[in-house]
Amino acid sequence: MVMLKCGKSAKGSLLKTGKGGYRPPTIKLLGKSIRYNDPVKYLGVTISAQCKMEKHAQSTGTKASCLFDRLTVICKARWGITCSNIRTLYNGVYLPSVLYAIEAWNPLLRQETARKMSSSQRSPLLRMSKGYATVSTDARQVICGAMPLDLEAHKRYYRSQIKSNTAFTFGLIQYNEGDDKKQAYTRLDSELLNMWQAKWHASTKGDTTYEYFPDVKIRMQKQWMELDYFSTQFLTGHGDFGLRLKKFGIKEDDRCECGQSETAEHVLRDCDLYEQERNVALRELSLEGVTTGVRNTQELTKTKKIFDIFKKLCKGILTKKEESRRR
Ligand SMILES: [Zn+2]
Repeated sequence: MVMLKCGKSAKGSLLKTGKGGYRPPTIKLLGKSIRYNDPVKYLGVTISAQCKMEKHAQSTGTKASCLFDRLTVICKARWGITCSNIRTLYNGVYLPSVLYAIEAWNPLLRQETARKMSSSQRSPLLRMSKGYATVSTDARQVICGAMPLDLEAHKRYYRSQIKSNTAFTFGLIQYNEGDDKKQAYTRLDSELLNMWQAKWHASTKGDTTYEYFPDVKIRMQKQWMELDYFSTQFLTGHGDFGLRLKKFGIKEDDRCECGQSETAEHVLRDCDLYEQERNVALRELSLEGVTTGVRNTQELTKTKKIFDIFKKLCKGILTKKEESRRR
């Protein structure tokens, strides 16, 4: 039994133990009946019977996503506020809303619920990446450099444990009272990135994105990366490409105007129709020390200057494709 207090009076009661079939007991405090509720909302956190957090995780996820959508309503795929501005809103508005009071409820979070929480990230990350709605959450997290929500929840919780000097074990980390806090924060960040890496490596989704960003640590070091509507299509493989559109039933024919099967790789690396744009990019990439042209995907995101050349090429190709379709 859990009694939830608000000021001087108890607000509600909740059964913590005993699965199903139990009649809630009648509780009185100072002659006043305390109502049994399921779920109970206390200081903004919704707790269900058995101290389950599913409802809270689901409702805060929906609320935070709606709030974020309202704030970024002026953000459309092709125009509007930039990716870095959306990231600022994501870190400053979305995460604090969805993980409100996580220090209190993270220990109650079941693995299954934690995994489901990440689905509320879909919408904010779609806006940040300016990509197609068909891109998986796993790929969106990596491309945006946004940690999966369950790991972000652990990060905030265990940082609070270190701050209050409370011993804990998490993954390969053992924190004891009196340990160096600065070192502990660094070890925690590293462990979380390792966990994310293992998840990304095991994911069956986002193959194209994995070619560009196989290592989440390296992706996180590239905070300068400004995604746009054009480059994201190549970084995810989801975009204005015949094979992909055919797969989703939007187009009947997967062929490029040149006659070959049209994929992101084909138009970027091989298609003769975009040779002019590609040659300009190859010259510029060579001046930046890239000797593999557009074939080595990881080279194309190595520095901001190189990535800008890549972005210009992506925009050139997709704009030419659109113009040719209109003719
Ligand atoms: Zn072609």
